[in-house]
Amino acid sequence: MNENEISEDTLIAKIGRNSDLYQGVVNIPVYRASTILFSTLEKLQHSEENMFDTMCYGRLGNPTTWALEDAITQLEGGFKGVVGPSGLSIIATVLMAYAKPGGHILISHNVYSGVRRFCQEVLGNFNVEVEFYDPNLRNNIEKLFRQNTAFIYVESPGSTDLAIADLPSIINVAKIRDIPVIVDNTWATPLYYKPLKYGADISIQSATKYIVGHSDALLGIAVCTEKSWPIVNRMSFYLGICAGPDDAYLALRGLRTLSVRMERYQKSALQIAGWLKTRPEVERVLYPALKDDPGHAIWKRDYTGASGRFAVKLKKASVKAIATMLDQMEHFGMGFSWGGFESIIAPIFPDQQVQDQKQNVLLRISIGLENPQDLIDDLEKGFDRFNSADKNNG
Ligand SMILES: *Cc1c(COP(=O)(O)O)cnc(C)c1O
Repeated sequence: MNENEISEDTLIAKIGRNSDLYQGVVNIPVYRASTILFSTLEKLQHSEENMFDTMCYGRLGNPTTWALEDAITQLEGGFKGVVGPSGLSIIATVLMAYAKPGGHILISHNVYSGVRRFCQEVLGNFNVEVEFYDPNLRNNIEKLFRQNTAFIYVESPGSTDLAIADLPSIINVAKIRDIPVIVDNTWATPLYYKPLKYGADISIQSATKYIVGHSDALLGIAVCTEKSWPIVNRMSFYLGICAGPDDAYLALRGLRTLSVRMERYQKSALQIAGWLKTRPEVERVLYPALKDDPGHAIWKRDYTGASGRFAVKLKKASVKAIATMLDQMEHFGMGFSWGGFESIIAPIFPDQQVQDQKQNVLLRISIGLENPQDLIDDLEKGFDRFNSADKNNG
């Protein structure tokens, strides 16, 4: 049977391991190595011929990291992958590989803050003109194309507003001009969205989130096509980007349960997001899986599922009310990152400067594997505290 025909639930149990090569051990061992020894001069002299597939030097990869690359590549429908020590490091590698001094790049304005910083502070200094575009432009993005546009970077849905980009229509116009399209696919994971199948050149995962899934390792993966792999791999080689074998092992372990976790995250997130919509404290829930979300139609057309990461825009409230709510959450942890087994909540203040005025705070929520009703109860008690704080505040 063709591997493309088997269910992904079955595929993720099989990919990235080959027990025959490791004395029957189910999981691929952790290859901790920097130095590789060659028994003859001839072997040493030929070692660089296949340095990205057989061990030559630890930095160039090892069977554990290759297994992870292969597994994610298979799920995304790519040619080969490149792993790095974090999502941001691999994004930076890809952007460095495609940006050119004097060139122009298009970055969706709702990207992850680290990507925005890298573009402005690093690429900007290398004389790259960084233009942030509105992903709702769809194929009208064409109007922003220039002779020197080096690539389009899409994060869908975007970290800040969860707006979904119409990737097929962006790719349509990009292809005509041969402009590479790079996609951050972290939110959907390789299970729920396949940017390469829509013609993207690279699909990136911050594996730190859902793939590792247990909040205990950082990793990034760029899944490439046959055309983009040499470009990304070369830059990774020049920069010395590599991932630790222990972290790659943790990502492979996380991957085995990705499908069951995603199913549960989605189910709980829909229930909780639906409940949040009914709350008087809430102005809007930003979650493409909700029917009235502006991105819902595209999400429904292109994605096969939603993750547990969404956001809630609250009605105007004081910082004190937010603090009173969040300081005493019982089940939600407060912190950066998301995609673990545990639920996370974190506020984003539209204006960091005016802490003394009421503002529309955004709550970033990542739903974990806890019982959804317990999470709702936690939020409900939080809103009670929130309301009494603002009442006392006048
Ligand atoms: C977290 C995140 C990144 C960066 O990943 P790290 O592994 O933390 O470096 C990139 N893109 C998105 C969408 C993210 O959420």
